[in-house]
Amino acid sequence: MKNIKDYSLEELKEEMKKINEKPFRAVQISEWLYQNRVSNFDDMTNLSIAFREKLKELYYIKEFKIQKKQVASDGTKKYLFDLLDGNAIETVLMEYHHGYSICVSSQIGCKMGCKFCASTGIPFVRNLTSGEILEQIMAVERDENIRISNVVFMGIGEPLDNYDNVVKAIKMINDPKVLNIGARHISISTSGLVPKIYKLAEENIQCTLSISLHATTDEQRSSMMPVNNTYNIEELLQACRDYVEKTHRRISFEYALAKENNDNLDDAKRLVKLLKGMLCHVNLIPINKIENGEYTKSTNENIMKFRDYLNEHGIVATIRRELGSDIDAACGQLRRKNLN
Ligand code: SAH
Repeated sequence: MKNIKDYSLEELKEEMKKINEKPFRAVQISEWLYQNRVSNFDDMTNLSIAFREKLKELYYIKEFKIQKKQVASDGTKKYLFDLLDGNAIETVLMEYHHGYSICVSSQIGCKMGCKFCASTGIPFVRNLTSGEILEQIMAVERDENIRISNVVFMGIGEPLDNYDNVVKAIKMINDPKVLNIGARHISISTSGLVPKIYKLAEENIQCTLSISLHATTDEQRSSMMPVNNTYNIEELLQACRDYVEKTHRRISFEYALAKENNDNLDDAKRLVKLLKGMLCHVNLIPINKIENGEYTKSTNENIMKFRDYLNEHGIVATIRRELGSDIDAACGQLRRKNLN
């Protein structure tokens, strides 16, 4: 049995050929799934009963069950979804004045080992399929009876370590006949898998690339993010310059400020030097404390000084609003949960 949402339209057409059906059947199925949002094959009333039975034997339509839903004081909602195989993942819904934004997970667990992130320290289980990525959005839309306008791949997992499924999901999220969310409203955040950044630049999708930079020297970055031992800052920034050249899209650099670690003016000066001349934007994140974590948030004063220094020296920087921290839904606070 296969999850029907794991197929792109082209793949579903191929599937139909394999089971001796006409490729246009794939278009009908896709309309039922994504435009009418039906939850079972029996509701696909323009398909013959015999064909529906055949589909039921080969495929399933999975709607996530909500294991838990928490609401933060600022209205941010965190969902714990129950997957079919006994695992569970977290997804966060945020409301902004311009619409709803969802933070999706891309893997069950994460291999990257960033010291400041709660997704570290729990074993990696597996990649999410493209259907499981899509279903996070569809399940939240169903539950809240809303349409989501922004998707960020900033939940659990390293999206570029699950490259094929994530790229397929992005194409479907963007497809007017599937979820119809503009590519410019989709952001993918990476800890810096350099070869995959070069590959993504070739995909011809206009999504936003966010880079978790967080430090300005290799020594400092390696101490926070082991991935820097494999791809150092210079290699990472070279890949970013290539990305901008190919896509003409502005890169967003994430920089989580931790007290007495990476938040003083020398850091800001080095950051300006590193990013000078690049089409980019810096998103400053007051680091969120995690259980047993060694980093604590910078003071508001330091955060604002840091931002002002960047802005005064030609680098556009903003401070990310902190949403959902009272329910552990803020950046870096999501964990892989097992069902008991
Ligand atoms: N693996 C991807 C996406 C997930 S995290 C990545 O590394 O980019 C989304 C963002 O939250 C990343 O920039 C990540 O570095 C940041 N983050 C992780 N832990 C954090 C914490 N404790 N406080 C603030 N930001 C954190």
